[in-house]
Amino acid sequence: MPQNSYRKSGLWPIIIFAVLLLFVAGCNNSSVSTGAFSPGSEANQPIPMPDQTAPSGQLKVHFLDVGQADSILVQLPNNQNMLIDAGNNDDGDKIINYLNKAGVKQIDYLVGTHPHEDHIGGMDTVIKNCTIGRVYMPRVTNTTRTYEDALTAVKGKGLKITTAKAGLKIVDDGSVQAVMLAPYSSEYEDLNNYSAVIKLTFGEVSFLFTGDTGEQSEAEILVGGISPQADVFKVGHHGSHSSTSAAFLQAVKPEYAVICIGAGNDYGHPHKETLTRLQGIKVFRTDLDGTVVFATDGREIKVTTGKNNSGTSWEPGGSGSWSTTGQNDNSISASNNDRIYVDDSGQGLIKGNINSKGEKIYHMPGEAGYANTKPEQWFKTEAEAVAVGFRPVND
Ligand SMILES: [Zn+2]
Repeated sequence: MPQNSYRKSGLWPIIIFAVLLLFVAGCNNSSVSTGAFSPGSEANQPIPMPDQTAPSGQLKVHFLDVGQADSILVQLPNNQNMLIDAGNNDDGDKIINYLNKAGVKQIDYLVGTHPHEDHIGGMDTVIKNCTIGRVYMPRVTNTTRTYEDALTAVKGKGLKITTAKAGLKIVDDGSVQAVMLAPYSSEYEDLNNYSAVIKLTFGEVSFLFTGDTGEQSEAEILVGGISPQADVFKVGHHGSHSSTSAAFLQAVKPEYAVICIGAGNDYGHPHKETLTRLQGIKVFRTDLDGTVVFATDGREIKVTTGKNNSGTSWEPGGSGSWSTTGQNDNSISASNNDRIYVDDSGQGLIKGNINSKGEKIYHMPGEAGYANTKPEQWFKTEAEAVAVGFRPVND
């Protein structure tokens, strides 16, 4: 026997371990193309990750800016990860890149809230490129290619779908609980009402993720026995008026609300009625704020946003009270005329239009009719528009 054989046998376990590590390293973006889109196109832009200064061992919730779609990454204090929805079909690669940047090794809990493209579009890509634990979806089918792709990816990995339904516990790990509050019924007319609704609690801080659930399911949650009260509320259905009923919002009583939407979307989301109901709540919008990240130690909450148009960054000033860094106080309030609305290149997004009566009216991104408004002039702030004689739509 050669003299060095003991060395080889000593090395083999290490080599095998190293090779194994390569395979279990998690979300693999080797198949992610970086040059497939034309330069500068929306689809080619990675999702910018807000600066994160929160120490590890915290709970982090990332509302990804995937345009008119939902994708929410939850990093649990026990280092497990949950992904709630995966954006539109074109968002899969962007989400994988974001997961890699966030150091996410695997998705332990993957939730497709309901089988609409803007929620499960990138699910097949996520499943193919990541190590996946459990998959949750409501028991309802859709006859789309997107839905078939998601199912094929689930089967391809030998995964099984756990039916999303009210009362189901996803995580019950000491100080962290994730439980489903909906769907209750087995049949709904509107596919949105099948949405898996999840309440996540860490210590004293709670989040409510609603998918696109509508008033019917909200009413069921109200009598369902599990309180939907939460500090951070993912506004249902991109801020549509068909969700977020006054009664439901009163029961959730959030301090923060997040609306996942694309700028100038075809649906006029968020609807005015919803924004009116949300008055008094700190509202973040992915069209204006980019990706929004909440970090909490179970007692205090810190928020960072991807687009630094408002310089938003809150530091908790103690239990239940908030101080601000710099001049940012109220900078996210929709009524603040100095709030800056710009795209990635710094171009203003507020449209100044002179109507047939010669009236100078400015239109805000996300407003109903914004997409169809012809801009005579662009503004970065409402104050800029007012200074040259423009007024808001409904004054
Ligand atoms: Zn949706």
